[in-house]
Amino acid sequence: MADSRKTAIVTGGSRGIGREVALRLASLDYDIAIVYVGDPNEAAETVSECTKKGVRAIAYVCNVASFEETKETVNAITKDFGGDSIEVLVNNAGITRDGLIAMMSEENWDSVISVNLKGAFNMIRHTSRLFIRNKCGRIVNISSVSGLMGNAGQINYSASKAGIVGLTKSTARELASKGVTCNAVAPGFIRTDMTKNITEENSELLKTIPLGRMGEVSDVAAAVVFLLTSPYITGEVLRVDGGIAM
Ligand code: NAP
Repeated sequence: MADSRKTAIVTGGSRGIGREVALRLASLDYDIAIVYVGDPNEAAETVSECTKKGVRAIAYVCNVASFEETKETVNAITKDFGGDSIEVLVNNAGITRDGLIAMMSEENWDSVISVNLKGAFNMIRHTSRLFIRNKCGRIVNISSVSGLMGNAGQINYSASKAGIVGLTKSTARELASKGVTCNAVAPGFIRTDMTKNITEENSELLKTIPLGRMGEVSDVAAAVVFLLTSPYITGEVLRVDGGIAM
């Protein structure tokens, strides 16, 4: 059943950056639909924290790499919240399967491209008609500095995140006249499960961060919210990286 609030869809909203984005949007009075694939306890925690802020929140199990599953999930979200209410899409779900190019398996290449890049396409593909019909939409895709600069050992991940930049700019151009903006955030090293093996003590890489520390999920979520609430910015890629890729 629909209410008067706008709805934000956050993929990968069960943990890490996505959870923080979901909580910030709940604080801005958005109803929240999170999409996750693995851990129902983490998803339930995000839903519970959003609900405490007085909004509706529902978690949907969906592999963003699947065209059919994302279609069914967007249909379910539309049914639960009302198509008119859907205003925000944050394509945040992502994985790493790192390895050197000479050794990388076809499976690791395919899975990273499918989740990180095709996943964002799938979600935009299935929500864009709603945004066009509503004459308003705000899309933010999560890229990475790895997609801007390249990173040895991450050819699959870098390619997926560079692809996100092209996807973002093309979507921005295609949907601008319909009242839809599309931007990207490119984080550097952010403290989440994804980077749990990197510590400030053990990584030479961290010495390359001009601001001298890893980023926090709050640093990224602030940038996502900034772009979602900036109606005259589209096609932008905003680095949140402590200066690594300047
Ligand atoms: P994380 O803590 O590992 O969380 C990943 C999230 O994505 C989880 O909610 C996970 O759901 C979800 N997810 C993974 N595969 C999925 C799939 N196939 N379908 C649906 N959901 C899926 O990651 P994070 O560090 O917060 O990263 C979030 C985004 O920021 C990613 O796109 C990542 O590439 C990007 N990024 C991160 C960093 C960093 O330093 N952390 C830097 C640059 C860019 P489950 O809990 O169900 O598995």
